[in-house]
Amino acid sequence: MKRRGRFAPTPSGMLHIGNAFSALASWLQMRQIGGEFLLRIENIDKPRSRPVFAEQQLDDLLWLGIDWDEGPRIGGPFAPYEQSKREPLYEAALDVLRNNGRIYPCYCSRSELASIASAPHGLSSEGPAYPGLCRHLTSEERAYKAQKKTPSLRFIMPEEAITFQDGISGTMRYDGEALGDFIVKRADGIFSYQLAVTVDDAAMGITDVLRGADLLDSTPRQLALYEALDLAPPSFSHVPLVADEYGKRLSKRDKSLTLASLRETGVAPERLIGAIAYTAGWRDRLEPLAAQELISHYRAPDGNTQPIIMTQQILGWL
Ligand code: GLU
Repeated sequence: MKRRGRFAPTPSGMLHIGNAFSALASWLQMRQIGGEFLLRIENIDKPRSRPVFAEQQLDDLLWLGIDWDEGPRIGGPFAPYEQSKREPLYEAALDVLRNNGRIYPCYCSRSELASIASAPHGLSSEGPAYPGLCRHLTSEERAYKAQKKTPSLRFIMPEEAITFQDGISGTMRYDGEALGDFIVKRADGIFSYQLAVTVDDAAMGITDVLRGADLLDSTPRQLALYEALDLAPPSFSHVPLVADEYGKRLSKRDKSLTLASLRETGVAPERLIGAIAYTAGWRDRLEPLAAQELISHYRAPDGNTQPIIMTQQILGWL
């Protein structure tokens, strides 16, 4: 079986240099070993997603020289997978969790939870750990609350430790209880990132998930879902984030560092790729390079969890 990787952007903004780094790393990893690479637009959160961003992201990736191997095709490149078209799969997974007693309705509002000062601050990608308030409601309490409010659905995290081997950071260990029960379907009917990404990676036969370190603490949650859904998990690698020389992470908010704005100012893709390759340590000279030329030079950022720094000097070279 061929190894399969993917890039899975959320179309809630433009791709920036940090996204280009993780997309390139995942693509290079697969191209180097003759594996397959997929693109999935994670537009499950409809209020946050915009088709124009999805189109721009696609165009930016093609501009970089990143291609993908699957999806509907009419003439041009393959169309990517889109989560908004895959809801029946998420619903089916939810049924499995429901039948196995792994989810419960939660009536807590965001403001109620924010006011619980004692809630332990969990890890970034999911906010503070849920303190379990609705987990043990009686059926009468549930029926009463249900008259007033549509609940979200929470997944019951196993209490024991969850460990995994990250391809870059090595052995990772998380306390399931400290991560807390997380939402798999919101009260407004939207499936959560954690559920959709797990179902999709499994359904698409992804063997190697490589993504940004901001999602490191999502992995134990996703592993718990793989286990509850009786699915085989992929291997996970989390690449460092890209920061400026003051240590500030490059993000969608830095408009000048989006791929779209770099393109507008006339930056060539080979320059951006050369800058990323030099910053990531794949090349020891700053020189323009096409994505294809990098394939043989790619190596995983071994053991490096610190952000990689793209200095003003490198940005100036673009
Ligand atoms: N859609 C997620 C994001 O843009 C990434 C999902 C993943 O790689 O697991 O942050």
